[in-house]
Amino acid sequence: MSNITGKTKVCGIIGDPVAHSMSPIMHNAAFRELGLDFIYVAFQVSQNDLKEAVSGIRSLNIKGINVTIPHKVTIMPYLDRFEPLAKEIGAVNTVVNEAGTLTGYNTDAPGFLQALDSNGVDPKGKRVIILGAGGAARAISFALAENGAHLIILNRTYDTADKLAHHLRQKYNNQIQALPLNKESLAQTIKGGYLLVNTTSVGMSPNTAGTPVETRLLTRELIICDIVYHPLETRLLKEAQRIGAKTISGLDMLVWQGVFAFEKWTGQRPPESIMKNEALSLLGRHEN
Ligand code: NAP
Repeated sequence: MSNITGKTKVCGIIGDPVAHSMSPIMHNAAFRELGLDFIYVAFQVSQNDLKEAVSGIRSLNIKGINVTIPHKVTIMPYLDRFEPLAKEIGAVNTVVNEAGTLTGYNTDAPGFLQALDSNGVDPKGKRVIILGAGGAARAISFALAENGAHLIILNRTYDTADKLAHHLRQKYNNQIQALPLNKESLAQTIKGGYLLVNTTSVGMSPNTAGTPVETRLLTRELIICDIVYHPLETRLLKEAQRIGAKTISGLDMLVWQGVFAFEKWTGQRPPESIMKNEALSLLGRHEN
């Protein structure tokens, strides 16, 4: 980082906690590779300080920001404009600052779709089972519905899944259903399913022994995507691989949401393989 000058543009991520974020290492590697005079840093911002932190983006002329837990929804009242998808989803993970005007985007949604596409998976007209109804599930379910998938959303708190399904049905004519997340609904929905996406935090480090789907319910015909990326291979992914099912790890979505954010700040397409390798090496270091 010895070539930082008075002209260097600043990007970053705001969240709480944020020290574990993969984004600084991915974006800085891509800036270096493309020879761009940008730097990316992590800002720990508490909920109480969020409004002032957003004012700081304007006053310090920070070019771009990623937003992570717990600010993806609560940042919205402080921004000036939104891309339609982010508004529809009700969550922002990327902000672009153009001369003090802050526009909110959601790159989790296209990032997830690109992760499917890069693994040769096309959800159009297929039945997709989504586990969870939190922030990531909202982005993923809108992206899938927009692309013509039929959705079954299962959540531990049924009411949240029901509200999300209701919201989606107001916009899309696809079949969209909500169910409680339990063994019976899983057994019933997995039959005939094309893709299952885990968006719950079950299986995430340090609770790596957890899995949201009992092994005996998995079939090799069902593609399994787990958006949890720490560990890289969750118990769900390992068990699906063991029976010969196709699997997609959360790292792909993480990298692609970063690629799309980077494009918005710089106007350039970053080398996705470099971002992925950097994230892989950092995650590998955490796991060893
Ligand atoms: P969130 O808004 O807090 O939602 C968490 C979801 O997990 C809720 O549906 C919650 O159900 C469910 N859940 C939590 N503990 C559970 C348990 N013990 N049993 C069953 N369900 C449980 O979080 P989020 O932002 O959606 O993130 C969810 C996960 O996705 C995290 O692991 C995050 O790291 C990962 N993620 C990955 C990417 C990527 O790029 N790969 C992007 C975003 C998020 P209730 O409603 O019942 O509480």
